Amino acid sequence: MKKTIGWHFDNSYVQLPSIFYSDISLNPVRSPKLILLNESVAASLGLDIQTLKSEEALAVLAGNTIPEGGEPIAQAYAGHQFGHFNMLGDGRALLYGEQITPQNERYDIALKGSGRTPYSRGGDGRAALGPMLREYIISEAMFALGIPTSRSLAVVTTGEMIIRETELPGAIVTRVASSHLRVGTFQYAAQWGTDEELQLLADYALERHYPANSGDQNRYLYLLQEVIKKQATLIAKWQLVGFIHGVMNTDNMTISGETIDYGPCAFMDVYDPATVFSSIDRQGRYAYGNQPNIGGWNLTRLAESLLPLIDDDQEKAIQLAQETLQQYPKLFVENWLEGMRAKLGIFNEEQEDIKLVEELLQLMQQYQADYTNTFIALTFEQLEDSPLFNASAFKDWHHKWQARLARQQQTKDMSQQLMRQHNPAIIPRNHRVEEALEAAVERGDYSVMNNLLKVLAQPYAHTKEQQAYASLPEPTNQPYRTFCGT
Ligand code: AMP
Ligand code: MG
Ligand code: MG
Repeated sequence: MKKTIGWHFDNSYVQLPSIFYSDISLNPVRSPKLILLNESVAASLGLDIQTLKSEEALAVLAGNTIPEGGEPIAQAYAGHQFGHFNMLGDGRALLYGEQITPQNERYDIALKGSGRTPYSRGGDGRAALGPMLREYIISEAMFALGIPTSRSLAVVTTGEMIIRETELPGAIVTRVASSHLRVGTFQYAAQWGTDEELQLLADYALERHYPANSGDQNRYLYLLQEVIKKQATLIAKWQLVGFIHGVMNTDNMTISGETIDYGPCAFMDVYDPATVFSSIDRQGRYAYGNQPNIGGWNLTRLAESLLPLIDDDQEKAIQLAQETLQQYPKLFVENWLEGMRAKLGIFNEEQEDIKLVEELLQLMQQYQADYTNTFIALTFEQLEDSPLFNASAFKDWHHKWQARLARQQQTKDMSQQLMRQHNPAIIPRNHRVEEALEAAVERGDYSVMNNLLKVLAQPYAHTKEQQAYASLPEPTNQPYRTFCGT
């Protein structure tokens, strides 16, 4: 019997009122080629790896043929982009539908770079190979770091060139996410839908992501509260590994609490809260140190959108929403501090821990120390000759830290074990990512990227082979810059 790819779609989003999406037709591409296939994602989706390498599967991954059970749509959403409210929607993406996995989990299967939709405005609906590979690399790295994220099933090239500042090879990434519901989806409903449509969306989000609500609580306040919890956890995890999303517009913030939309994101090397990589973020709105605040700002936009559902009395709704929003900064700090304690090998809680952490971070900033490698040096007690480790203020801090560790019951070995599990040896360093993309895009050499992906898959393994990937870029006067919209 001929094996099938293994699609098993059950499309719940299209049961929502039609204002939430547009049915679309495909925009076939000339000569697609499979560049990357994520075998672990394929397996978890219940897809057959061999069959996924067939022409039939390629046509699906390229947006040339609809998979069995797929119903291609573009989602409608709004969003605050750098603080400005706009109608957006999938302008270069399509959603085939929701794959039900053998474990009975539901995942959106979406293409990015698949051509124009009713929401494309002036855009061509296409994407370039470099940024699609970048999304694949960084999202895989995030997954391996234990951070909730969308993942990539595949990248295909289209055989067509797209026009940006120069001509670039076109590509399509297949994105897998637990949903693509965004803060911006709720803003869209609140702005252009009826209260009934807004309620249907909220009920849908509850059922899909937060079904546990016992019923004795205000459902929509519960939804807000759960998203707050998820985002507080997520953004704390970003901060702990030095991840900078780069474009935390409300349309790029999920209701599920997964990281999505890997555009201009990048990891910080030297610790500095003001770090910004995105070329368009001139005010530093989405700087590393500002991400937690922006998370709160975006959640406030979600709360505003939910007000009509929270209570008929809008004064009361505002008060309830505000009380719920107040939990966010507290939850963020709790999550972050818990993670920081683990990074420093601390098991129990002491009042002064936050001061200990902040002092270290200040010293890292002052002496321009690499964020990731400083924690690795502390983990493995390799405090080599460096401005930070030679500083007397650091030596004072180190004494305090050692005294702190001595005040807990756990042994030194246990502390080190904890630190090994929470301090990645490997992050996708910008110069390594660029090197991999250049080899792939300029020379068609995917070996550099495949080696990088292998290393990124085990950030906490702490093997000898990984050490080369921990090295810092050559010093340069050119700050690293990332771009979106390509
Ligand atoms: P992003 O920066 O990827 O979050 O995209 C922001 C908005 O711009 C979304 O509505 C995208 O669908 C849209 N967009 C980005 N690039 C293109 C493109 N090449 N063609 C059409 N729409 C695009
Ligand atoms: Mg329908
Ligand atoms: Mg987006």
